[in-house]
Amino acid sequence: MKPWEKNIRRVTPYTPGEQPKEKDIIKLNTNENPYPPSPKVMEAELELEQLRFYPDPSAMELVEAIARYHGLNNDQIFVGVGSDDVLAMSFLTFFNSDKPVLFPDITYSFYDVWADLFRIPYETKALDDDFCLVAKDYYAANGGVIFPNPNAPTGIAEKLSFVKDILDHNQDVVVIVDEAYIDFGGESACTLLDQYENLLVVRTFSKSRSLAGMRIGYAMGNKKLIQVLNDVKYSFNSYTMNYPTIVMGKASIEDEAYFRETVAKVVKTREWFKEELARLGFLYFESSANFVFAGHKEIPAKDIFEAARNKKIFIRYFDKPRIRDYLRISIGTDEEMKVLVSFLEQFVKEWKNT
Ligand code: PMP
Repeated sequence: MKPWEKNIRRVTPYTPGEQPKEKDIIKLNTNENPYPPSPKVMEAELELEQLRFYPDPSAMELVEAIARYHGLNNDQIFVGVGSDDVLAMSFLTFFNSDKPVLFPDITYSFYDVWADLFRIPYETKALDDDFCLVAKDYYAANGGVIFPNPNAPTGIAEKLSFVKDILDHNQDVVVIVDEAYIDFGGESACTLLDQYENLLVVRTFSKSRSLAGMRIGYAMGNKKLIQVLNDVKYSFNSYTMNYPTIVMGKASIEDEAYFRETVAKVVKTREWFKEELARLGFLYFESSANFVFAGHKEIPAKDIFEAARNKKIFIRYFDKPRIRDYLRISIGTDEEMKVLVSFLEQFVKEWKNT
């Protein structure tokens, strides 16, 4: 190694799901929404002239629209380039202790990447045999707590009483609830914001609002939390949200009817798909998200993953301890899910005959 190489910050990056270039595929591997964004997003008026200027660093139009939607004040909202950006800023801002930050062993695999990048000590707590979080594991002294609700990649939602329990036992640190999937099921911790000034709830436009490509995420919390988050953000990059994103994001969150309609469609398909999985001999977790985590009783998950891929059906397989027997399958349109179900039916039949 050359001397200059010794000074380099080396990290093992997060591995996002594949984004294949081909057109004629069924893409159920990154929990995107199968429906287009609200038509109001396209109708939003954009002025070319505005691109000459730096965007509003506070993204106030979008902040106001999000605050109105949740019945909060503007100073309780922080916006970022996807919830990944919001979460990264939150790790940097709130997890600054010598004590370890706590999160589940099976969870969003970006958490340990940010912890490593920012040199934040952390400890993972094992999910129980039913893949649920164990509240008392989070009673230990720590430098902060973060977990998704519903959890990923299991899709299991913990009750609000569970979140409250974690908050009651962690009054001296910031507790972050990552609600990327909450619109598809589960109880939001938003209702606890008045009661707990150390609670930060993080959301995204990527899933329930079909805007993964736009990159909009936000955090809700006490104004002191939002203030310090903004201080860190402005010390890093002032102009994270560009002008079209601000305008189109506002149009999206203001179209409540379209949002409700697409979320209801995804949930309906998910429930139908669970029944089909059971019929085909799969075990799955009770998902409250826009994906299902399932494994077949007899057939290795990896074999199904590879065979599906050969048929241009992309699902997600994590070759990691405890979860390598499962597949994470995003909910697509009814048509896409029917193609997947017929593929699975055929595959299971052939497997049994060999
Ligand atoms: N949190 C969880 C639990 C997720 O699964 C994802 C999606 N990869 C994100 C946050 C980030 O989503 P985005 O950056 O698109 O808002």
